Amino acid sequence: MTATHQVKLKPGDTIGILGGGQLGRMLAMAAARLGLRCRMFSPDPDSPAFDVVLNATCAEYADVEALELFAADVDVITYEFENVPAAAAMILAARRPVLPNRKILETTQDRLAEKDFVRQIDIGTADYADVCSAASLRAAIARIGLPAVLKTRRFGYDGKGQAIIQQGDDTDRIWEELETRSAILEAFVPFEREISVIAARSAEGQVECFDVTENEHRDHILKTSRVPADIPDALAAQACGIAEKIATALNYVGVLAVELFVVKGDGGPKVLVNEIAPRVHNSGHWTLDGATISQFEQHIRAIAGWPLGKPVRHGPVIMTNLIGEEINGYERWLTVPGAAVHIYNKGTPRPGRKMGHITQVLPQTQNHTTQGR
Ligand code: AMP
Repeated sequence: MTATHQVKLKPGDTIGILGGGQLGRMLAMAAARLGLRCRMFSPDPDSPAFDVVLNATCAEYADVEALELFAADVDVITYEFENVPAAAAMILAARRPVLPNRKILETTQDRLAEKDFVRQIDIGTADYADVCSAASLRAAIARIGLPAVLKTRRFGYDGKGQAIIQQGDDTDRIWEELETRSAILEAFVPFEREISVIAARSAEGQVECFDVTENEHRDHILKTSRVPADIPDALAAQACGIAEKIATALNYVGVLAVELFVVKGDGGPKVLVNEIAPRVHNSGHWTLDGATISQFEQHIRAIAGWPLGKPVRHGPVIMTNLIGEEINGYERWLTVPGAAVHIYNKGTPRPGRKMGHITQVLPQTQNHTTQGR
């Protein structure tokens, strides 16, 4: 089985998952519900995803022999993080279908390539400029203005590899502190709110979007997701249309997340794309308990060559991340009526580390600010 269009798994077949974090863990649990097995690949022996599968490969992504053996044992390969090394993806793709297509990684691993792609398909983003030196940063600021956000082109997440630049800041020092040679400067977006769309696309081109999620970050890390987002229906439809356009343009198979800013426009609020995540996403965790089909199941269905589901939401939903030491409060959450508790078993909590999450489906009459805490 090598070509994407030939993937058609049957119960008992095995999915290979690159990465062993909580996303891989929840993907493997969703696969198990559908009668599919998973084999994980991760260099970290303490990977939380190893807990829920029988077979795992603990090896570096540069270990060619381990990659070959892994590929031989699975029917299709997917990933739970976007920084899969290109060489590893190439070795695997020569042996088994890799879904989503590994070419998508080239676009989404690089903030500049990603923004160029989004603009090429006529979707709005913040103004941005390529930055490769202190001098080019000064030139970019002259064009884009301040405040602005300087981001490394690669390997940034949860606010890491980012700096906000304000009037009067020492830009040469900020450039040095970022310790990179390739960055992007983005205009600071004075957003009203942040939203995301979790979309699934099948190999046949069927696209299903979950209801638009409204996200709040604390210290650049997602803290809560609320569904539905408090935005007009037309704007929600527009956001879903953008996710569908992106998924279709990428010939995407699987689940992707599109993060957007809602900003004031002349004729009412409008959206700008911030980021694309070529994988299941934290802002879609609410779907595990808040909808009939989760983002994890949709992803498994898509890469298995199965029809996507039509998820039905159970009501207004709030998802709260348990970050760092907050996980130690899990016993209190266990007693909150209606709260679904998810613990990732990631060992000792570290500041900023996502350790678990809580989902609460609220009565239709209750709004998000009156959750049962
Ligand atoms: P990112 O890693 O690009 O998703 O950024 C993390 C968070 O930083 C976003 O969710 C926003 O809250 C904030 N942020 C990123 N880029 C911008 C921007 N251009 N303007 C304003 N806030 C931003």
